[in-house]
Amino acid sequence: MNDLVCPACGTAHAGGERFCTSCGLPLVHPGAHEEETVGERHARMRKIKPQLSEGQLVMVAGARHQPEAEMIQGILLEEGVPSTLRRTRGFDVPEMLAAGPRDVLVPRSGLETAREVLLQADLLATGSARATPPVRLALGLLVAVAVVALIVLAGTAIGP
Ligand SMILES: [Zn+2]
Repeated sequence: MNDLVCPACGTAHAGGERFCTSCGLPLVHPGAHEEETVGERHARMRKIKPQLSEGQLVMVAGARHQPEAEMIQGILLEEGVPSTLRRTRGFDVPEMLAAGPRDVLVPRSGLETAREVLLQADLLATGSARATPPVRLALGLLVAVAVVALIVLAGTAIGP
């Protein structure tokens, strides 16, 4: 346990430093970190169920900010649903609101599972979903899908 390395730039620090002198990141033991990240990535990949990863992305929940969105992603991943975050766009909301709310999108095949999970966690986008009649729910879903389609089209036009 002599040299610690920076997880970002890989610089070895022989002294008593706890943080990288160039990046400022906490130093880690060489090897241990590599194993950890690969292991974490594999664990994440294992959790994702292929049958919940198919289809177009649809919005399942809205988060007030990035940390909340990532928390939702973690909850979904535990149930095998992969998800993507997208900055929520309003029709006249300026692009400068970088710290604004996020949409959580899941593949169509994972939507049902995601909704159940988030309903249990009380994190579903529509707070009144539990009392919403099926017809209205279907209509709402249709609108949501249409909006997502527009967002996807807009995203494609602008670029990644
Ligand atoms: Zn560094």
